[in-house]
Amino acid sequence: MYEKIDEQFASDNYSQICPEVLEKIIELNQNNAQAYGNDYYTKYAADKLRELFETDCEIFFVFNGTAANSLSLAALCNSYHSIICSDVAHIETDECGAPEFFSNGSKLLLAKTDDGKLKPEDIVHLATKRDDIHYPKPKVVSITQSTELGTVYSIDELKAIKEVANKHNLLIQMDGARFANAVTSLGCTPAEITWKVGVDVLCFSGTKNGMAMGEVVIFFDRKLAVDFDYRCKQAGQLASKMKFISAQWIALLENNLWKRNATHANDMAKYFEKQISSIKDIKIKFPVESNSVFIEAPIKNLEEIKNKDWIFYSFIGAGGARFVFSWNSTKERIDQLILDLKTIWSSS
Ligand SMILES: *Cc1c(COP(=O)(O)O)cnc(C)c1O
Repeated sequence: MYEKIDEQFASDNYSQICPEVLEKIIELNQNNAQAYGNDYYTKYAADKLRELFETDCEIFFVFNGTAANSLSLAALCNSYHSIICSDVAHIETDECGAPEFFSNGSKLLLAKTDDGKLKPEDIVHLATKRDDIHYPKPKVVSITQSTELGTVYSIDELKAIKEVANKHNLLIQMDGARFANAVTSLGCTPAEITWKVGVDVLCFSGTKNGMAMGEVVIFFDRKLAVDFDYRCKQAGQLASKMKFISAQWIALLENNLWKRNATHANDMAKYFEKQISSIKDIKIKFPVESNSVFIEAPIKNLEEIKNKDWIFYSFIGAGGARFVFSWNSTKERIDQLILDLKTIWSSS
């Protein structure tokens, strides 16, 4: 009746709810509370987030990242606009066209990247390659922090993006599915890599940081948030029992749990990277700067890893395997994976 699988590193979404989050839900469940976000806990969680970001921002709680990205982009764009992003951006590869759907047709303009990061020159190129009426007008730059490939934009890189965005009248939206991992990786404050470097909207994920589900959309420019509550409701993202999403955020924000969770995940990725770097012929594809590690693996080796009951995402075309570490990843299980990889690589 109950599925029980061995710990896996396919995604940080495989993990459990972290105990403090679950306990907070149970604690708040002692009482009834108002519906649709009119409860005390939701106001409290929003205030805590404003405190964390050190600014008076507008905050909306939604269920998942696809909605957070799509709805925030739709709020920034009209249907005839376009959004500049990398070719590996989640909004391009993993959201089933939701950003285009919710914006009524805003087009994504893709830049090829080697490491998941958009470069200022990519943005300039896409923003200026056409300026006629026949082409969708560039309006937003979307960046993922940490990126889909586990790399992290430095503060200077973000500043350089802001500079070109300003020059070309582009707003900046940040997909923060692994925002916490980026903050801890850089050792900076959340403000330093968002509004202080000109990010207009951030989608901050709680799900990948230890919640059951829940993301926040944070508008640093309050004017951009006009009617966003209606947009959420129409899209089926207004939780009637929002208090249970807010409760989870309260738990993550208390005692910097979000930071501890992200730090552990990043540390485990570093540990894995260090241990496998001694395996002959194994190659790590991208700098390990957050909680994922990509290794290059011939098809035959990929098959053998699968045969040892490891679940992971592979990128067949690129010949790689991705391992993602979580708030609750254990060294014991990582050691098992390392041992299996050693066996496979030494016999290949
Ligand atoms: C996980 C993830 C999301 C959110 O995905 P949902 O499944 O919709 O919650 C968004 N962006 C990135 C980069 C992700 O890894």
